[in-house]
Amino acid sequence: MAGGVELGFAAAAGPEDAWRLRSAYFPSKLGGRPAWLGEDGLPGLGALRCARCQQPRAFLLQLYAPLPGRRDAFHRSLFVFACRGAACYRLPGPGGPLCVFRSQLPRRNRFYPEEPPPEDPPPGPVAPPGRLRSGARLCRVCGCLGPRACGRCHRAAYCGTEHQALDWRRGHRRTCGQAGDADNSENATTAPGEDKFLFPEYEILIEPEEPEFPADSSADPDDDKGAAGTSKEAEEQEEHRVSSSTGEGSQSLDEETLEAMAKHETEDDKIFRMFKERIAAEPEQIIRYCRGGEGPIWVSRENIPKEQDIPNCACGAKRVFEFQIMPQILNHLQVDSLGESIDWGTLVVYTCAENCGDENEYVEEFIWKQDFSTSSIKFPSSS
Ligand SMILES: [Zn+2]
Ligand SMILES: [Zn+2]
Ligand SMILES: [Zn+2]
Ligand SMILES: [Zn+2]
Repeated sequence: MAGGVELGFAAAAGPEDAWRLRSAYFPSKLGGRPAWLGEDGLPGLGALRCARCQQPRAFLLQLYAPLPGRRDAFHRSLFVFACRGAACYRLPGPGGPLCVFRSQLPRRNRFYPEEPPPEDPPPGPVAPPGRLRSGARLCRVCGCLGPRACGRCHRAAYCGTEHQALDWRRGHRRTCGQAGDADNSENATTAPGEDKFLFPEYEILIEPEEPEFPADSSADPDDDKGAAGTSKEAEEQEEHRVSSSTGEGSQSLDEETLEAMAKHETEDDKIFRMFKERIAAEPEQIIRYCRGGEGPIWVSRENIPKEQDIPNCACGAKRVFEFQIMPQILNHLQVDSLGESIDWGTLVVYTCAENCGDENEYVEEFIWKQDFSTSSIKFPSSS
């Protein structure tokens, strides 16, 4: 990934495509279990617990994003995890229900051949791995480190008590110890509802963004002189004036407050309109990637992080914008649209400008959540 903005799209992955989503094929993917890149220094359960509710976060997506010219990042992947608890998303800002990790490897490494993987499918089905080459086991439910074993069969591995209990409820109590109860088989007996932990799995396909978008959509949001915007804004302001003069009794707001409110709404509407214009050509995009280049597009004027809101990397280097996750992704997650559900306007990932770290660790990076403004219309579902 290099140059201009690159867009990511979710592509349905049937069982016949599953092999492409495994680690050896360096996938970008959404949902399912993580296809770990490096096998050392995986994030443990503590790092993966939601900062709000303390439950294990689920794997959301990973992007394969090697850095050209960096021998230590010949392979490089970013992994995003998200809590399944809707209530954990009420507050905007950093961290909370979300976290992101980075792994990288040189071309010559202990895990993968130096030559690119074949483009043909392997002869047999490729099940998600139950353990790493080191022998460390992976949780049957979430695919993260699973140091805890079932006390009865000593075979089923779990990240912690939550997933042990979940797996027991959804079928391990019947299959425990049976021959067909493979380490990490896709569990066909998963009951819908509260037992659902993994997000549905898709491949993420990356394409460059066509640079054909309205010239003024990259303008400074504070610049109100865009020819297209002027007449509409004037209209909106006129509307506000009319409603204030027909006011609702003596309790009506003074003109200054109304003007301020009208201006506020107009600026927010404008940012949201620019957001919609920018993605109009490719409305299905779920990822916008441009490391260190053109910044994210925001859905609102509220909760845009300032420079000091983005902490430096543990190595001391600044972090730069790398990619953003778009609200359209929610259409693929099968999150409940009735009542409260997992929700965001956009998620923005910032990574170490120096790209520090080595092949023995997963480095935690920074993710920021911006919500839709309460005054703007919710992004229309495309499904
Ligand atoms: Zn949570
Ligand atoms: Zn787990
Ligand atoms: Zn067991
Ligand atoms: Zn760093």
